[in-house]
Amino acid sequence: MSATPVVSQVDSYNREKSQLITPLVGASVAELTAWVQQQGQPAYRGKQLHEWIYQKGVRSLADISVFSKQWRTEIAEVPVGRSTLHYRTVAPDGTVKYLLQLADGQIIETVGIPSDKRLTVCVSTQVGCPMACDFCATGKGGYKRNLARHEIVDQVLTVQEDFQQRVSNVVFMGMGEPLLNTDNVLAAIKSINQDIGIGQRSLTVSTVGIRDRIRHFAQHHLQVTLAVSLHASNQALREQLIPSARSYPLVDLLAECREYVEITGRRVTFEYILLAGLNDLPEHALELAKCLRGFQSHVNLIPYNPIQEVDYKRPNRDRIQAFLNILKQQNIAVSIRYSRGLEADAACGQLRASKRG
Ligand code: SAH
Repeated sequence: MSATPVVSQVDSYNREKSQLITPLVGASVAELTAWVQQQGQPAYRGKQLHEWIYQKGVRSLADISVFSKQWRTEIAEVPVGRSTLHYRTVAPDGTVKYLLQLADGQIIETVGIPSDKRLTVCVSTQVGCPMACDFCATGKGGYKRNLARHEIVDQVLTVQEDFQQRVSNVVFMGMGEPLLNTDNVLAAIKSINQDIGIGQRSLTVSTVGIRDRIRHFAQHHLQVTLAVSLHASNQALREQLIPSARSYPLVDLLAECREYVEITGRRVTFEYILLAGLNDLPEHALELAKCLRGFQSHVNLIPYNPIQEVDYKRPNRDRIQAFLNILKQQNIAVSIRYSRGLEADAACGQLRASKRG
């Protein structure tokens, strides 16, 4: 007979078991049902677990009061997969920036953006970002790793709980390049859609463009919006701002975007940061219009948000308006997106997982 006390036997059993299990957040009813059945429990426990994870926001399985005491003790160590709040700050416009700590200690940023009836969450897909775009704070801090499915889904649950309001929209525009982490992003989209219940049309994935990945993404025939960070109207300018443009030229990117439209029947959103004196001249607007002629697309102009390391400038309102007007005259669908959360360093391009920029 073993001399090991029962409690620590249970502990080591749990530790071994939990290593075999990926964290539960992000799992579907079917996956959770299969898991509870593996544990010798009846199938309906899967539905209960699903409800506790996505609706009640349980952080430890030990707290699920509808489960028997004994089973709860057994599964207490199984990771639910929730992050812990490291820091939270509110900008004067109501935008909330969260620094969330992951199980391995890494920190990511998430932003909650309330407006009228909407609550939009801007989620990160990587810790840091390897793309190193010159105007973006995230790239300045380097790249650590991809986020797992549960780490992406957790961000939506966290904002939903904090606001005590249902999230209406999710934009994959936080730290990282989503299409370098396509599998986990696709899995997270599925869960956000089916488990949290947010319509695919209310989700937007933003990419700087990775060769072949836009086509691959299109082949999943999702209803989500694809946003492509263009930022330049010609190859030379784009290379200057985005290092990866050298190996993946603008013509190739635009060709792949056209394929996306053909495959999905959905238009593409093009994001274009306006940098004073650099890419905001009338000739750039005309050049951009030429690139996009006959293209089922929408242009989102994003006035540059300042970051410390570089001295780009945001154009004044007249210049922004002039750029917009030229595109409109050229029959390009276009709008201006003034980022929220500027004062909390929570705006587009300012996310660097630190308390201040
Ligand atoms: N890697 C993805 C998603 C993250 S960035 C992408 O590049 O699309 C989300 C958006 O914010 C992108 O369009 C990005 O180019 C933009 N952005 C980055 N830095 C910015 C800044 N300083 N000011 C305004 N927008 C910025």
